[in-house]
Amino acid sequence: MSDVVDRAAALRAYAEETAGCTRCALAAGRTQVVFGAGNPDAELMFVGEAPGFHEDQQGIPFVGQAGKLLDKLLAGIGLERSDVYIANTLKCRPPGNRDPMPDEIAACEPHLFRQIELIQPQLVATLGNFATKLLSGKPLGITRVHGQEQEVTLGASRVVLFPLYHPAAALYTPSMLKVLEEDFARIPALLERAEVAPAPLPVEPVPEFQRDPVQLGLF
Ligand code: URA
Repeated sequence: MSDVVDRAAALRAYAEETAGCTRCALAAGRTQVVFGAGNPDAELMFVGEAPGFHEDQQGIPFVGQAGKLLDKLLAGIGLERSDVYIANTLKCRPPGNRDPMPDEIAACEPHLFRQIELIQPQLVATLGNFATKLLSGKPLGITRVHGQEQEVTLGASRVVLFPLYHPAAALYTPSMLKVLEEDFARIPALLERAEVAPAPLPVEPVPEFQRDPVQLGLF
């Protein structure tokens, strides 16, 4: 059996396991767990915030207005949903689409990390503040870090993290949409770079006596 088939089967099995999740209080109010959708072998993965009304009803991430914009942005770089994998920080809909709470994010985090571990994407594009802060491990907001790729270790994988504005926010703010489109247009080049970059070697500590002397001046 190929690695790709194994991966798809493992992801399906994990989705089935997750369908009955009761790790947080959102389980009580959901229609269903919105696990994620797309290509289990994707090199590009998107991580949004949480399911909304339509996602909760249909069990598929990004099927509402924000999803339509995401589809359009993907088409703009020659991709379709079936080329990528789409998941959320939270797998269950918060009541009234309120922001995710820290205890919900902490409870749901293992699901996202397992997905990343199984899919092994090269590039993870985080959509909005919640996914960005969780996966970067830093408190910096999306306004500051959008469009700035960074290498991170997620579980056992080294991936390039690429923070983007959330499409739902860009829907009603033309200036934000423009920035999102510009950032999105960089994805193909980032993917290409991520594919050719060899896996980073473990950094060996340099013995004290071999280190360069501290450079005190400018020249
Ligand atoms: N917003 C998200 O963050 N995720 C969805 O699935 C839909 C809207």
